[in-house]
Amino acid sequence: MTGLDIFKLLPKTNCKKCGQATCLAFAMALANAKADVAQCPDMNDTARDALEAASSPQIALVKIGVGPDEAQAGNETVLFRHDKCFVNPTPLAVLISDRCENPAAEALKANNLVFDRLGQMHGINLLAVQNHSGDPVTFCETVRSVSEKTNFPLILVCEDSLAIEKALEVTGAKKPLVYAANEENYKVMTELARKYNVPLAVKGRDLDHLAGLAEKVAALGHRQLVLDSGAQNVRQVLADQTQIRRQALRRFRPFGYPTIVFAANSRDPLQAVIEAGVYIAKYAGIVVLPSADPEVVLPLVTLRLNIFTDPQKPAAVDSRIYEIGSPGNSAPVLVTSNFSLTYFCVASDVEASRVPAYILPVDTDGVSVLTGWAAGKFTPEKIAAMLKESGIEDKVTHRRVIIPGGVAVLSGKLQDLSGWEVIVGPVESSGLPAFLKRRWVAEKA
Ligand code: SF4
Repeated sequence: MTGLDIFKLLPKTNCKKCGQATCLAFAMALANAKADVAQCPDMNDTARDALEAASSPQIALVKIGVGPDEAQAGNETVLFRHDKCFVNPTPLAVLISDRCENPAAEALKANNLVFDRLGQMHGINLLAVQNHSGDPVTFCETVRSVSEKTNFPLILVCEDSLAIEKALEVTGAKKPLVYAANEENYKVMTELARKYNVPLAVKGRDLDHLAGLAEKVAALGHRQLVLDSGAQNVRQVLADQTQIRRQALRRFRPFGYPTIVFAANSRDPLQAVIEAGVYIAKYAGIVVLPSADPEVVLPLVTLRLNIFTDPQKPAAVDSRIYEIGSPGNSAPVLVTSNFSLTYFCVASDVEASRVPAYILPVDTDGVSVLTGWAAGKFTPEKIAAMLKESGIEDKVTHRRVIIPGGVAVLSGKLQDLSGWEVIVGPVESSGLPAFLKRRWVAEKA
């Protein structure tokens, strides 16, 4: 809605209760998402409903699980990342069959699958327990056994409502996703989802059928939905995911929910990575993987990190002193930029050298050393100021600082400004282990 569309719905009394000088100013603030509908106490119910519907997200936010490990999908507002950004990194689930010999061990394996990327820990987010046995008791026992060994939220993959009911008696309080309601079982599945207040996946035979089924479930009063178009091969899944996202953004309500897809039923890791990678990029809300093998999960976690990074926000670390190992007062001092990727490359190469050191990432607004130098953000003045103000002078007794080899040109002026002896380090941080051993440890000895 434009500001004028919104203005037509307002009381037009200019009473200022909303904090704005006029109703028109409030309308403009609402149109720019800088105000909330609730701030106008005098709006009538019809106008409020219309404005709330217009301002609600095109794709509903669905939460699975409780507490800090809760997984979220949905709330996306764009088709292309560069239009704004993608919001919720696609939760990755790992499938555990109820025919698996030791489901608890599979859960523990998934728990331990954690990767450090740019200083943050990443891994899978959900465990999907699948009823392969056809036996409600076996399924329920598998769900119980997995649930006891993990904090990951669960997906209950079973279309037998009796088995789902038993599993919900065990794990309902942990708010699992129930997968899935179909044409035959949707009434009883919706009733169970409503009773336990858990999200429910809706599985169609194709897009038309899915739209109709989602409407029927929503009409029964449940709106924590996740969509599955029923497509099996990559090409059809990709086409369906794209259509669902396009229609959702046009406010086609039956598709206004996140989706779920299953990657590669085979255990071929390469195929699983390719399929899941396509689905993360194009537009799956949740991706279920066939296994928790590191060679499958690591590339997907890296891809997800790239796609869901906000392109408008530089990835930066705080500009302060970082200690690698337990550096003493004679440890080397290195400066670099505060671009996350640069900092973590330098930090990992210093770690590899086994020479305890101090790293000072200069605030370059999150750009790399060379970009920062070219943009006037990695300058002798800023480095000298950091050497003086960071507190490093109290931590070391020497006055020798190592700068990146790519900006050797800064050394003269930096030495004059700071009074520190400037040592030009390697051009690439991968040269740091050999450099530190040669120039610091050997010289000291
Ligand atoms: Fe207008 Fe409502 Fe704001 Fe009053 S509170 S000025 S009626 S928008």
